[in-house]
Amino acid sequence: MMGSTTEAKKIAKRVFGFDSFRPLQKEIIGSVLAGRDTLVVMPTGGGKSLCYQIPALVLEGLTLVVSPLISLMEDQVSQLKELGIPAVCLNSSLSAEEYRQNMGLLSRGEIKLLYTAPETLLQERTAGFLEQLDISCIAIDEAHCISEWGHDFRPEYRQIAALRTRFPKSVWIALTATATEQVRHDICSSLNLIRPEVFVAGFDRPGLFLEVRIKSDPDSQMLDFIRQYPDQSGIIYCATRRRVDETASMLRSRGFLALPYHAGLSDEERRSNQRAFIKDDVQIMVATVAFGMGIDKPDIRFILHRDLPKNIESYYQQIGRAGRDGLDSHCLLLFGYGDIRTIRYFISGKDKKGQKAAELHLKAMINYAESEICRRIPLLSYFGEAFEGDNCRHCDNCSREKKQTEHQDNISLAARKFLSCVIRTGRIFGAGHIIDVLRGSKSQKVLDRGHDQLSTYGIGLEYTKRQWFHLSRQFIRQGLLTQDPQHGSLLPTGKARQVLRGELEVFGQLHEDGMHSDRIKSRPEK
Ligand code: ADP
Ligand code: ZN
Repeated sequence: MMGSTTEAKKIAKRVFGFDSFRPLQKEIIGSVLAGRDTLVVMPTGGGKSLCYQIPALVLEGLTLVVSPLISLMEDQVSQLKELGIPAVCLNSSLSAEEYRQNMGLLSRGEIKLLYTAPETLLQERTAGFLEQLDISCIAIDEAHCISEWGHDFRPEYRQIAALRTRFPKSVWIALTATATEQVRHDICSSLNLIRPEVFVAGFDRPGLFLEVRIKSDPDSQMLDFIRQYPDQSGIIYCATRRRVDETASMLRSRGFLALPYHAGLSDEERRSNQRAFIKDDVQIMVATVAFGMGIDKPDIRFILHRDLPKNIESYYQQIGRAGRDGLDSHCLLLFGYGDIRTIRYFISGKDKKGQKAAELHLKAMINYAESEICRRIPLLSYFGEAFEGDNCRHCDNCSREKKQTEHQDNISLAARKFLSCVIRTGRIFGAGHIIDVLRGSKSQKVLDRGHDQLSTYGIGLEYTKRQWFHLSRQFIRQGLLTQDPQHGSLLPTGKARQVLRGELEVFGQLHEDGMHSDRIKSRPEK
């Protein structure tokens, strides 16, 4: 298996068009290629599929992918076919004719990836047929379905383990986004994984200092920023080729060693500029999104976004190029509302479906840029990961928050009352109902649910409804609660648990400007 991860990297680029691996992908692929059973826990969108698709292409023979949903597997198969990878599925939705055809392709060794549902696999005619093929790898997607502790238990999954003895030569890889210890343990034992390598990917890069500033005068803002890092390597990303060229020459005219990189340059120019950057002959690479492939420069100390990226995915990839050596690095995004218009203009040229997706991506990006809470919360939640803890201490909002607390009220008690009430009422209500309970309302909804029996009923009479709403918005902004965008229901976060345990104090404003508690008499609601 010598050099197989180099091979993997080439395939990632050549077949899938990916410039680099996401966190842990390389290690996971290496583990599978080394023939070790592997368990992968990675947030949704983390790039799990690649972890078996690449080995499938590197290894001789066939990779069998077990996936619970037929629609999902058909999507994957058609995507792979578009990339020129021979893949098929066997499932109950195929006609007898298609089924026979696919079996023909498989027995002739023309297929690299076979997707199948557990119930299909467990039929003797399928299992018996597959036994005669050369199956090098078996991938169990959505492996948490095997655990009764998971959120999606599927009994058929339990029986997959029996296949272990029928395919003794295959290496197994199980993948899931569910990370609890119990589920992880269940997967390993139910599938009889042999001394598995376990990989748990998190998206947080604690070494990156995240900052957003409103774009006012980009040239002087950029100059101010890079002057903080004399002689240290950094990348400046711009939205267009023209802006890359302008920015690079502006920097050079100010005495900085900067070179452009974009798809409009000749291959030779691009290669030589990139080499100059890697070898520290220039300090700054000014680039479009085209820059990044194979950039394994460990000591990039800053990433400056002159323009708003189109989505968090690419933003995350770009800032991820900083600080590969594990040392602190600074990521600054200049956020201008004009950029939103420009991106929307591009979006309007897409088809309907593309527009919808691109608009959602843009919204998430704007949400990140406008966030008043720790930047890590919107960033990581985009990848399905919660940022637990009170303060990352490594973003603009967290460092700012600390300074402000001197002029603010301690609202910890109000926070504890509110959070307890959210928990007691079952984490399914919005602020309005929580406030009704706190203020002892006799509304039908409160009575019907028996919420007048709760210990938190009527414990919040010291504030008016309006004040409570004001407080609840601060609790959300400060990341104690997240709000379901569809139903408005509030969910306490890890930070909320710290507040409830008394480990963390909350500061904010008790009153909206111009509201004075002594002028407002609180009465129970009718
Ligand atoms: P998961 O199964 O973990 O939810 P997927 O395998 O569907 O995630 O990957 C999520 C997205 O990330 C896909 O659009 C995929 O093409 C993309 N992706 C995966 N690996 C990489 C990579 N190394 N570089 C860029 N994009 C990637
Ligand atoms: Zn933070």
